[in-house]
Amino acid sequence: MEATTLAQNIHNFKYCQSLTQYQRRKTIEVKIGDVPLGGDNPIRVQSMTTIDTMDTIGTVEQSIRMIEAGCEYVRITAPSLKEAQNLENIKKELRLRGYHTPIVADIHFTPNAAELAAKIVEKVRINPGNYADKKRFELIEYTEATYQEELDRIREKFEPLVKICKEYGTAMRIGTNHGSLSDRIMSRYGDTPFGMVESALEFLRICEDMNYHQIVLSMKASNTQIMVQAYRLLVQKLEEEGLKPYPLHLGVTEAGEAEDGRIKSAVGIGTLLEDGLGDTVRVSLTEDPEAEMPVGQKLVNRYLNRPNHASITEIEQFPKNPFDYERRNTREVLNFGKDNVPRVMADFSRLSSYQVEDFKAIGHTYLPALDKWGMSDHGADYVYLGENPVPFMFPNGLKAVQSYDTWLEEKDESYPLCSVPDYLSYDKFSDKLNFLSLSLKDLGGKLLKNLQEEKDPWVLVIKTDNEHAMPELRRLIFSLIENKIRLPVLIHREYAEADPEQWQLFASTDIGGLLIDGMGDGAMLSPSNEIVFVNRDSELEYLKQANALAFGILQAARTRMTKTEYISCPSCGRTLFDLQETTAMIRKRTDHLKGIKIGIMGCIVNGPGEMADADYGYVGSGKGKITLYRGKEVVKRAVASEKAVDKLIDLIKEDGNWIERE
Ligand code: SF4
Repeated sequence: MEATTLAQNIHNFKYCQSLTQYQRRKTIEVKIGDVPLGGDNPIRVQSMTTIDTMDTIGTVEQSIRMIEAGCEYVRITAPSLKEAQNLENIKKELRLRGYHTPIVADIHFTPNAAELAAKIVEKVRINPGNYADKKRFELIEYTEATYQEELDRIREKFEPLVKICKEYGTAMRIGTNHGSLSDRIMSRYGDTPFGMVESALEFLRICEDMNYHQIVLSMKASNTQIMVQAYRLLVQKLEEEGLKPYPLHLGVTEAGEAEDGRIKSAVGIGTLLEDGLGDTVRVSLTEDPEAEMPVGQKLVNRYLNRPNHASITEIEQFPKNPFDYERRNTREVLNFGKDNVPRVMADFSRLSSYQVEDFKAIGHTYLPALDKWGMSDHGADYVYLGENPVPFMFPNGLKAVQSYDTWLEEKDESYPLCSVPDYLSYDKFSDKLNFLSLSLKDLGGKLLKNLQEEKDPWVLVIKTDNEHAMPELRRLIFSLIENKIRLPVLIHREYAEADPEQWQLFASTDIGGLLIDGMGDGAMLSPSNEIVFVNRDSELEYLKQANALAFGILQAARTRMTKTEYISCPSCGRTLFDLQETTAMIRKRTDHLKGIKIGIMGCIVNGPGEMADADYGYVGSGKGKITLYRGKEVVKRAVASEKAVDKLIDLIKEDGNWIERE
């Protein structure tokens, strides 16, 4: 889509049915063995094996573990003809053992493997960035004629596969990956959401011409902003070109492990699910594939009853560009808003008394020997004390916030958090910073008028009880934009979830879904009253996790980088080393390097492309051999794996990016 057309269409967004009423996007049904996808079928959860595809029994047994954990499609890599052929043995053995879950062959670079696999399994996944192209990282000037020649070349290579899929009733995913776009797409569109969409459409148009529609589409990226924009743009483009509403497979690539992987996946996948997009999800974690299923299920099950949520006033005009990141234009209030990074506020209001040690949970540690406070990269910026007094002098990096009545007695020590009646009834406030807690229903009449005229330093703390939380908060922020209210916004969410993983996923979706669109100048996570703490230690543990989660969400939404970012592939049958072990080893030595992005990739075939915008790459290039990258440039080939982490650190040091751990 040309930029001008896009600009005209921003206000006529078509990427979802409604930004306020939850409705799943209506898609065509695609038949994949006995488990159809899209249409009225539930949102499916799937994953990929990590064992060598030539290890038939190993792959079968891992597939069974995945299926028993809830996997509805099992994807298996087929890098060459021999693996594609072995899919037959794997399928036979699985069926013999009573498992009928559809199998998906994952193909990169090898059309002949795809053609063979399409005769054996229920679905093939091709990557349009490398199906007919070898990536040379070249920038090429195309004329209309030479570009068309390229498209003709793709058609010639791709048509045989489509014919086989039609004949055998095999489905196909055209799965674009931000990190592995072809040189042709990169030269014309760059590695943008436009380029990603066009990359899939080049192949989709051929399928449509051949009257083949058993297609699923995906637009994966490890950058959550790019990923969300690309899926939205894809849907918009399908609508505009009058193409069929093909189902979407959602995923964030190389999301990583543990809580980072879960938070990042939820920010990307959850944001789209909120708008009714997505028919199947794959959460890519650098863990055993069966660990991905409960995460995917928690993400999708959240929407089972969502259509019954309380209603929200519809959005007629979309006041922001949903296809590009642009931070909401706010004025600066102390260190909130404008160009300041989003702030984190911890909620200590339920603790009845404080000791200096308690603040360690939110990144502020008192060092008695030095009589000083130390602050970690995850030191909260503010702490809400509720009705409690400020117990002692706080460290420089931490500011106290109290309820309005309490603040009136301790004005010099803290800032007030006011209710709407406080704000409307009193006139005594801080001349530096005040917080006003409000929800969408408050925003009208006198309050709206006062906020429009507000000249004093206020930050709005926005909250909601609506189950359709993110869209209601988005509606609130859109109302602020429409009414030209430029006060910064701190997103406040309360959760009753006792399951920490569910809490992580929901908070990442609700808060990340706003940050990813440039809305939100801070975050606060509170335990709801339904959460009962057995003792003080469990309460402090909760506050510690809430603080880490808030920083994790800001990082995953790419709005505040406070730790090293690991872009590690989930591993598959091509992987040349133990990814989990290696990632843990690299993390142990480098997790203090704030803001550096390290790609850890299992193979040289796809790894370099899929590392996307990593600053350094650690890529398996042979048995016991690692190739090290600086950005996209190879700097050391075939390094023995026992020495590779040291060499990676040497490289970071050479670039002046190393700091010693404190
Ligand atoms: S980068 Fe990792 S997941 Fe991707 S193909 Fe290579 S080993 Fe498999």
